[in-house]
Formats: sequence, C-alpha cells, structure tokens
Amino acid sequence: MFRFLYGWRAQLIIYTVVLLFFSGCAGVLHQPLVTTSPGIYHFVASGQTLYAIAKAYGVSIAEIMKANNLSQAEQLEAGTRIFIPRALSARDVVLYSKASFDSVERLVSVKVPSIPWKTITLHHSGTLEGNARSFDRNHKNRGMGGLFYHFVIGNGQDSGDGQIEVGWRWKEQSEVNRKRDIQICLVGDFNRQSVTPAQFDSLIKLLRVIMRRYSIPISHIRRHQDIPGSVTECCGRNFPFSRIISQLR
Ligand SMILES: [Zn+2]
Repeated sequence: MFRFLYGWRAQLIIYTVVLLFFSGCAGVLHQPLVTTSPGIYHFVASGQTLYAIAKAYGVSIAEIMKANNLSQAEQLEAGTRIFIPRALSARDVVLYSKASFDSVERLVSVKVPSIPWKTITLHHSGTLEGNARSFDRNHKNRGMGGLFYHFVIGNGQDSGDGQIEVGWRWKEQSEVNRKRDIQICLVGDFNRQSVTPAQFDSLIKLLRVIMRRYSIPISHIRRHQDIPGSVTECCGRNFPFSRIISQLR
C-alpha cells in the first residue's frame, strides 16, 4: 500500500473548462461555462487498471501516479482510494471497461419511492464535451433549476467514454417538465459527431435495465425531436435511433 502526499493541496491544479457555444438541446442561451476542480477520490474496484481509470477520467497515468506517490502502475488493489487530479465527478462512476448489467442495476437503484415512469426521451448535449456537473451548472444558469437529465452518458472528454452519470433528479426521483418521462443525454453533438461504441453499449444496457424495472415498452422510447410540438434537431442527424431500437428488440 502507499501513503498519500498531503502536499498536493498546495499544488492544486485549476481545471478550467470553457465551453463556447454551449448549445445543449434545450438551449436558449449560449454562454461560456467555467468550472474549477482540484480533483476527486476514486475507490478502485476489482479489475480496474490504472490505465482504465486514467482513460475514464481523461487524466494521464503519470498525473495519477504523481498525485498518489505511486511508483508502480500495477500495485492498485481493489478498495484502494486514489486521488484523481482535475477530475470533476466521482460518484456513480461506471468505468466502461467494467460496465456490467449488475453495475448499471446498482446505478439505477434509488433510495426514495420511485415514480411510475412511463416514457424515455433521448437527448444529445449538442456540445463536444461536458458532464453531469457542467450541464447542471449550465442549466441552473439558464433558469432550468439544474440538470435537466436523469442520466448523462459521457464521450471520454469530461467523463469516461461510455460512463453513466446519475443526475440528482434521478436520485430524488424528480420529473422535468414532462410527467413520468425519463431523460437520458449522450454527450456530443450528433449533427457533427457520432455516438461512440462505448456510449452505444452503455445506453443499451441502461435502457434495458430501466425498461425491465418500470415495464416500459420499446414504443415508449423516443428522441427529443419525436415529441409532438418540439422544435429541436435533438439528438442530431447521426444519432443511431433505429439501430438502438432494433438492438433492444
Ligand atoms: Zn434534447
């Protein structure tokens, strides 16, 4: 085991993310977003390698080793707490390499009485990067009362590729402006980009778990643009909706 260097606090790295043209799907305003974070702690789960952890958080192996006074990359043991410099979000992390139905089941579990969810709406963020925390801040600034999604699936920029983040609205079982409608957002602008294989895989797993748990049929899954009266391109031209639906059948 290793000991922690307490000197890291003196060397806090200010992590500044400036998202210009922050045009999420519910977008009205385009405003830059500035986030600062010294980092967070990550508890190593069984089978997680330093490489996989570094990749999931978008931080270099060297940075993690330095912050934790590690001399050998292979000495990580399950249950070990390591500091991830600059990372924004630690909770409810699923590393793509280890995402299993069991881990997704645990993510979806809630401690409060559950809403009888009926439909699922899929979104893209309309941005090239971002995560649950940065979207929460952006949606607050827009007067939307905070993160408008129940789940956010990362693209490897500001969270892991395929990492499922659970938003506070899901934990509190809080609806957005549509009743009994679950909101899932994939980070990316799918007019310009494509859904990553890891995002696709995580989305299918998340949908399967939610559909089974709340008895939601395939016909009740839709894109934001499919909602009658909506004026949006969300989830973008490249969003593989028909492939998602056929995968779920
Ligand atoms: Zn949308």
